[in-house]
Amino acid sequence: MERLKKLMVGLILLCLFISCSQKNNKSDGKLKVVTTTTMLTDLVKTIGGDKVVVTGLMGEGIDPHLYRASAGDVDKLSKADVIIYGGLHLEGKMAEIFEKLPELGKQVLNVGESLDKSKIHFIQENTPDPHVWFNTDLWETEAKAVTKKLSEMDVKNSGYYNQNYEKYKKELERLGEYITNRIKEIPKNSRVLVTAHDAFGYYGEKFGLEVKAIQGVSTDSETGTKNILELANFIVQRNIKAIFVESSVPKKSIEALQEAVKSKGSEVKIGGELYSDSLGDKEHNTDTYIKMVKANTDVIVDALK
Ligand SMILES: [Zn+2]
Repeated sequence: MERLKKLMVGLILLCLFISCSQKNNKSDGKLKVVTTTTMLTDLVKTIGGDKVVVTGLMGEGIDPHLYRASAGDVDKLSKADVIIYGGLHLEGKMAEIFEKLPELGKQVLNVGESLDKSKIHFIQENTPDPHVWFNTDLWETEAKAVTKKLSEMDVKNSGYYNQNYEKYKKELERLGEYITNRIKEIPKNSRVLVTAHDAFGYYGEKFGLEVKAIQGVSTDSETGTKNILELANFIVQRNIKAIFVESSVPKKSIEALQEAVKSKGSEVKIGGELYSDSLGDKEHNTDTYIKMVKANTDVIVDALK
């Protein structure tokens, strides 16, 4: 199985090498950017505006931890002027491809590398928590890195990119204030966020919530029964009112946790669905980063207060 995976990655890299060596044709002179997650796609669209053409590889509801590049993705990557990805092991199954891209002469931006290392949570020595977007300050730093990269690659529009960044920075500050104020509505003892996987560590740190999850910082691991039982005890002891499902993670682990609490003669409700590793859609008013974080905050506060 391991050999087959290596062979697949080798094949993808070979395809990339062949297509990268062909000449790039730009679309109307606009910079072509390929991104991974829906959050990054939204970020690059916000900064790049109508001066760039952005193609996101992952759609709504897609789990980046488990995502593997398709043949169509290889084509998109090979045609891009620049590839922007989250890094910090977020796109775990694509890491090998991303590492090889610079060797093939591709421009890449790993936004995770733009962050001060001291701000990154390390679960183990080589296991960073990649969900940095939930700290609005860190997201702002990544927005700055995107602005810098676009400006370097497209100097004539750098004023435009910087203007968009300055505007976005203010919107992020307002978002931070909104969240801070809403979290205050939850009684101090009840500021505990229980989710399916550990995606909200940075959110908790920035906005003052204790965070617990069934799975670790990647969904690429078994859901342990032990974890569920321990969490069920915690929920009963702390008298927690609600736990939350995530749009990009199967509901069954949270439902199992709810059952485990029930078997202890207690009750916890499912407080709603959070967007962790993917944005939502227009219909749910969660199709941009700002709307998504706001919606999450409202769901959390309304269920816990
Ligand atoms: Zn995640």
